[in-house]
Amino acid sequence: MKKGKVIIISAPSGSGKSTIIKHLMAQPELRLVFSISATTRSPRGQEQHGRDYYFISPDEFRALISQNAFVEYEQVYAGIYYGTLKDKVERQLAEGYNVVVDLDVNGGERVKALYGDRALSLFIQPPSIEVVRQRLEGRATEAPEDIEKRIERAAYELSRAPHFDRVVVNDKLADAQAEAYAIINQFVNGD
Ligand code: 5GP
Repeated sequence: MKKGKVIIISAPSGSGKSTIIKHLMAQPELRLVFSISATTRSPRGQEQHGRDYYFISPDEFRALISQNAFVEYEQVYAGIYYGTLKDKVERQLAEGYNVVVDLDVNGGERVKALYGDRALSLFIQPPSIEVVRQRLEGRATEAPEDIEKRIERAAYELSRAPHFDRVVVNDKLADAQAEAYAIINQFVNGD
């Protein structure tokens, strides 16, 4: 069976990335599966263990690092770790699925370097930092100090967009979804 490909999606918090990923996952011809990361942060809103993330303790995370269980991991915010689990991704690829990995920009660049031409790196860009602030305040799932941390981080992430294979600006959601779909469809189903 043909091995799957890796779709790396990175974007600042509040860029509409999760909505776009959900839309893409619902298109059967893309044969996408989502790589569920492990994280030490607490669940937010309706998030569920084993569906959105594996929510684990810092001790469990450290144990996985020492077992070399991660493709990559990153301290995205102070004291909060996120990591991609190697055996899960490898199994999904071997089964012929195209694996979506939702990563911060550092993780995104590292995974692209690891998988080379078998990976497509896509950066979803919000129209402006002001829009990021409005979206984060609107969803009201973070404490005010966490919103500030995420806005600071967003400015850094935006500066890394040129390192990605493709950039999609999410100004109008339907347009951004259509553009992301076309790019990924070409990558997984084109010649
Ligand atoms: P959130 O807390 O909003 O779910 O995610 C925060 C950031 O961590 C996002 O930029 C997301 O892409 C990133 N992230 C989620 N899982 C991983 C992972 O396994 N590795 C890396 N490097 N970043 C991740």
